[in-house]
Amino acid sequence: LKVGVARETFPLERRVAASPESVTRLVKPGFQVLIEKGAGEGAHFTDEAYQAAGATIVDDVWKDSDIVLKLRPPTPEQVKALENRTIVSFLWPRQNEALVQQLQDQGATAFAMDCIPRTLSRGQTYDALSSQANISGYRAVLEASHEFGRFFAGQMTAAGKVPPAKVLVIGAGVAGLAAIQTAKNMGAIVRAFDVRPVTKEQVEAMGAQFLLVDYEEDGSGAGGYAKEMSPEWHKAAQDLLTRQCSDVDIVITTALIPGKRAPIMITKEMVAGMKNGSVMVDLAAEAGGNIETTVPDQKIVTNNGVTCIGYTDLPSRLSTTSSNLYANNISKFLLSIGPQTTKEAGYYFIDHNDEAVRGMLVVENGKLMFPPPAPVTP
Ligand code: NAD
Repeated sequence: LKVGVARETFPLERRVAASPESVTRLVKPGFQVLIEKGAGEGAHFTDEAYQAAGATIVDDVWKDSDIVLKLRPPTPEQVKALENRTIVSFLWPRQNEALVQQLQDQGATAFAMDCIPRTLSRGQTYDALSSQANISGYRAVLEASHEFGRFFAGQMTAAGKVPPAKVLVIGAGVAGLAAIQTAKNMGAIVRAFDVRPVTKEQVEAMGAQFLLVDYEEDGSGAGGYAKEMSPEWHKAAQDLLTRQCSDVDIVITTALIPGKRAPIMITKEMVAGMKNGSVMVDLAAEAGGNIETTVPDQKIVTNNGVTCIGYTDLPSRLSTTSSNLYANNISKFLLSIGPQTTKEAGYYFIDHNDEAVRGMLVVENGKLMFPPPAPVTP
């Protein structure tokens, strides 16, 4: 089977769905790997490195591949060129109805990397949401420290005492925990909160302080994700955040609810109450933002001297690592569904009894397979 790796065309996107290492992994059991010319440029993978790993460089990957590997959802033109063949990519089927319809109309097959059942232990290897969110959380702290006019760690120097920075992280999922870890490693005082009580232990295990909202409500929703909170909870959270915003130096927000607009956690008034020189990074910018002053893809400075960062390309800013990890996720997923070592090279089939495969299968030969049936509990 021919597996093609497409060049990403989305603005600011520098990642790619294959690394030289993942090419070697795919070539070994019999896949023929085609790489679109220059696809790895943004991630510092040269065409020569892909060739040395066993790939063939082609001008157009869409017309010749049996399976196309990609990162961002394909454009309508790319889907048209895919015809009735297979794509594996981030697809966000709930948000991209027209794309899913086009894939059906063309009789294509599509797997969504964003639909991996995350509670499944076998699925963790393919969990690109986690591999990329981890990078976003790390990079958010670096972006904040770059803008911040002080050290993160406190120091006692001959020239005077330097206090440590105080960092507040809102949302302690994969990205939030990575931000907490990074800020702690840099020596800051870190506080965090989340609507899912289970996160308290994880936050405290990293040496950060877990903040409690003065209103009891469990925010745990389906699949280990958060649910939308009540207006009463939001009122109590606002009281807590108003006090925190006037005290901390850095705020990193990561609060997301699957399929919904991100909740507004920090209002304009709270930003107005922050100290001059404070920095905020809103990781929810692409989903509408957790901070009222966020402008997606931009860095703005408010009248009171607060820097608000709304970059939506944080994983792309570490393009080599994010591409390496995404390439691992996607190539290991592909190998788990075929080719089977006991069969002829290139043999590949879709096992509906495999929970990871079934969860990610959105369209199969034009038939809508999304959403998948709920897993059978023994
Ligand atoms: P996410 O990106 O959807 O959300 C980020 C965080 O924001 C979550 O922790 C959520 O609880 C929090 N949040 C939502 N609304 C909030 C609010 N109003 N105030 C404060 N915080 C709010 O989530 P994610 O990081 O992708 O992962 C969520 C969870 O999924 C994980 O923590 C974990 O439980 C589960 N997960 C499981 C596995 C696995 O089992 N292999 C892997 C990854 C994730």
